[in-house]
Amino acid sequence: MSTIFSQIVAGEIPARVVYEDERTIAFLDANPLSPGHTLVIPKDEYERLNDVPDDVASDLYATIHRLVPAVEEAVDADATTVAFNNGEEAGQEVPHVHCHIIPRFEGDGGGPIHAIAGETPDLGDDELDEIAADIESNA
Ligand code: 5GP
Repeated sequence: MSTIFSQIVAGEIPARVVYEDERTIAFLDANPLSPGHTLVIPKDEYERLNDVPDDVASDLYATIHRLVPAVEEAVDADATTVAFNNGEEAGQEVPHVHCHIIPRFEGDGGGPIHAIAGETPDLGDDELDEIAADIESNA
């Protein structure tokens, strides 16, 4: 099954494409959270960041790196929130990896990435040490 974003890549549905290279493409979000809200995706379909091969990850980041200043300049933004919803439980609706570049403006009423958390955990030093060690051993 092809995602809506693969259909954009294939030119089957229209999009306001702002950048394209061999392996990545960027286009305006159809329901922008602010002017210039842009999505950057790998052309090949991977559901989550975890599924993206190393070489594609490098290309994807290179495009994000290029687009952040381009988007900010285009809409005269003060800043950007740059983020992935990585998995359904994190709010990912389209199962094709995509990076949101969301222009931010002084006094826009939005929040920081920290605002996404529900209840925040109260973790002790031992738990933090254990979590850090587990992540380190998986990295
Ligand atoms: P998610 O919630 O999966 O992180 O974000 C999906 C994003 O894709 C949403 O911001 C939504 O507005 C955008 N989107 C969904 N369908 C389309 C489409 O057909 N075209 C474009 N340009 N954006 C879309």
